[in-house]
Amino acid sequence: MNIKEYFVSLFKGMHSLVKGMQVTGRELVSKKVTEQYPENRDTLHIPDRFRATLQLVYDDDGRHKCIGCRSCERACPNGTIHIETRMVDLPNGKKKMKLDKYVYDLGSCTFCSLCVHSCPTAAIQFSNDFEQAVFRREALVKQLNYLPEKDDEPAPTAATPPLAGQAPQPAGNPAQPGQNPAASSQEKQENQE
Ligand code: SF4
Ligand code: SF4
Repeated sequence: MNIKEYFVSLFKGMHSLVKGMQVTGRELVSKKVTEQYPENRDTLHIPDRFRATLQLVYDDDGRHKCIGCRSCERACPNGTIHIETRMVDLPNGKKKMKLDKYVYDLGSCTFCSLCVHSCPTAAIQFSNDFEQAVFRREALVKQLNYLPEKDDEPAPTAATPPLAGQAPQPAGNPAQPGQNPAASSQEKQENQE
């Protein structure tokens, strides 16, 4: 490299540096367009149709519409859903299948929504609650039926009769605010055993 080429190269380098600094300076004073998460959590807009996690739909009375048919479990291409059911005896002598556990592994879900479309009672849907990060993979496995079932029919015959002089206890005992729903469900299951 002769002396002329040296100064040409030096000039090009400085020109490039100035150009770059112009871009940096312009962005430094321009209005920010990035999301200020999590400071803007209250005003953050998540589209309603965003599929974040599967959930069982509960009505205002704390009832869900799952009939334990397992259609969603069969439709799922990767075994993300596991359903356990139990038979209950009705006072009229008939038996009825009830949902016992609806287990969903968010960690293996591909959000294809085949389960939702296969449900005959529209009992499940996707929530757009996108904040699902956890520290352990096991925490991604969730039991979706977290509320104790309410009686929409007379209690099963296996239920313990109330003691004399004692008012009968309602079968449904919704989780209190702040109470761990899974714990509530587990307590109910233990009570039923
Ligand atoms: S969205 Fe798809 S992968 Fe996820 S549970 Fe439903 S069927 Fe399975
Ligand atoms: S969620 Fe729907 S498809 Fe799945 S078991 Fe319940 S009723 Fe059947």
